Order: sequence, then structure tokens, then C-alpha cells
Amino acid sequence: MAGSPALVMRLVASAFTVAERAGSIVRKVMHSGDLGIVEKTGSNDLQTLADRLVQKSICASLSRRFPKITIIGEEDIPSEAVEEDLIESGQAGDILEKVCPAEYSNIREEELVVWVDPLDGTKEYTEAAVSLNGAALRHGTALCLLDHVTVLIGIAYGGKAIAGVINQPFFNYQLGPGGSLGRTLWGMLGLGAFGFELKEVPGGQRIITTTRSHSNKLVTDCVQAMEPHEVIRVGGAGNKIIQLVEGKASAYVFASPGCKKWDTCAPEAILHAVGGKLTDMRGRPYRYHADVKHMNSAGVLATLRDHQYYSSRVPESVLQGLPSD
Ligand code: AMP
Ligand code: MG
Ligand code: MG
Repeated sequence: MAGSPALVMRLVASAFTVAERAGSIVRKVMHSGDLGIVEKTGSNDLQTLADRLVQKSICASLSRRFPKITIIGEEDIPSEAVEEDLIESGQAGDILEKVCPAEYSNIREEELVVWVDPLDGTKEYTEAAVSLNGAALRHGTALCLLDHVTVLIGIAYGGKAIAGVINQPFFNYQLGPGGSLGRTLWGMLGLGAFGFELKEVPGGQRIITTTRSHSNKLVTDCVQAMEPHEVIRVGGAGNKIIQLVEGKASAYVFASPGCKKWDTCAPEAILHAVGGKLTDMRGRPYRYHADVKHMNSAGVLATLRDHQYYSSRVPESVLQGLPSD
């Protein structure tokens, strides 16, 4: 007879439902029209009411059920009592029914670190809000930015990203009023990934996805050195990994500091669960222990296949331009 689900499966099952709740908060704030935007380090580093509410919801919900887990969220917000209506206590039943990979079946709460990006693609979220209000829509831009927005919950054990949940709150926005908005993807090493159809870019095309709002010379030099057939510039680390696993891009290239551990933990776990690879620009893995530096200083190189090709194409000048740690 099957025993009760392993701790890590219960955590992923909770994270799934918590991410769905997060997605509904992201939509609600957007539709309220009042985003409560705050600049963090500058105009390209923003925080909105949705970032704040979602982080509170995710962190409070998970820590109530799993009090000994270390949870690290992107936003620096005062730790105050969280409103009860932000607490989500559900768990995805189909995840609880999965068999936990043997190597993770005895993990204890103290050994887990959860990395939370409450809203990835905040810049695009704020620009899409403008478009929803009409101004940019008339110019035919910006609605597609809604797809750049994701909520990321990554789970690390022994410094490794082992499981991840990504909610894409506006998936299917094209359906318009009455359509069912949003989806949740998840994955775990040893189990695979779910909530989407795994596809490769057709015909071995090199389609590179990279930042649209945090570019610089290192980023563009590196992309060009890879001789892409096409370059796509979109927001969000979560969104770019979704493009890799759905066959819309063959490599995510960001040869610059800027991405943090909460940007890469959940996406990396999902990508690795289907055989892909995420490293820094030198081809070294990132580590996700509770005490690591938050910044992914040496950039992000992620692929579903052919990581070696892209890694071998990174120019020496780009490597020298990146911090060495
Ligand atoms: P992007 O591809 O530009 O959307 O970046 C992916 C993630 O990394 C987002 O969460 C960004 O906020 C973050 N990021 C990348 N570069 C920077 C930067 N220069 N300053 C602040 N955040 C950044
Ligand atoms: Mg982010
Ligand atoms: Mg964020």
C-alpha cells in the first residue's frame, strides 16, 4: 500500500496551487488599473502591487504549511501580518499521486530552499497595462507582452534546482472575454515536466531568445557570435524557458549580470527535467543553496539541445567582460 506522499511532493503540490492563486492576483491587479509601481534600482527595475501581494501570498502560504523550509523571495517587503485572504492552502491532487523519485523521497524541510519570483517580467507587465488601457493598443503594440509575465517558484535541494512551478497568468489572452486565462507548468528531475507539450525548434534552426529591456553590448555581441537564423527579444526568464521547451527558441542567451537565482531556479528545474541545460556563459552550473549570492553574475545560457554549440560560440571578449565570480 502506498504511504503518504513524500515531503517534496507535498511541497510541489502546494506550490502548484499557490502559483495558480498567484496568477489570479496578477490578473486582478492588472484589471484594477492601479499597479502601484515603485522603481527599485531604476526605471528598468520595477515593483508593482502585484509583485508585493503575490510574494506575500506565496511565502506566507508555503511557510504556514512548511515552517522549516527556507523561502527566499525577490521583493524586499516588510514582514508584517499577511491578510488571511492571501493564504492558499490547496494542493494539486494529481501531483500528490505521482511517485517521488527515490533520491528525493526522504528530504527533510530543513534541507529545502524555495526561490520565489512573484512576478517575472514586471517591466512588460507595466507596459501591457498601458496597452490594456487603450493607448498602445491603438498603435497595435504591447498586448503580446502579457505572455512575458510569469510567477516562478523554484525548489532546491543540495544546491540543485530539483523542481519548479511556472504560472503564466495571461496565457490564452487572445481568447478575449469569457476565455479561460492562465496555465501552470511544473517539472521535477527524475519525473519530467507537465502542463505543456514538449517541442523542439523545427529543422535545427538557431533561434535565439534574449532580453528586450536589459540589453547591452555584451548581450548583442554574444547573440551575433552564435550566428542565429532569428533573434527574438522578449521579457522574463520564465517566458524564455517556456519558449525553449515549446520549440519557439533554441537558446536563451543573456551574457550579462542582471538575472537572479529566483529568475532561474524554477525555469532551470523544468528545463533540466526534460533534458535541457541552463548554465552561466562559461558553461558552469548555478547553485541554489540558501546562502548563495543572488545575482547570476556570469549570465544565462539555456538550451533544450546543443548546449555545447552555443557555449563554444561565446566570444572570449564577452567572457572577459563578465564578472569572474
Ligand atoms: P529580461 O530577460 O530582461 O526580462 O530579464 C530576466 C529577469 O532578469 C527579469 O526578472 C529581470 O528583471 C531580471 N534582470 C535582467 N537584467 C536586469 C537588470 N539589468 N536589472 C534588473 N533586473 C534585471
Ligand atoms: Mg524576474
Ligand atoms: Mg520579479
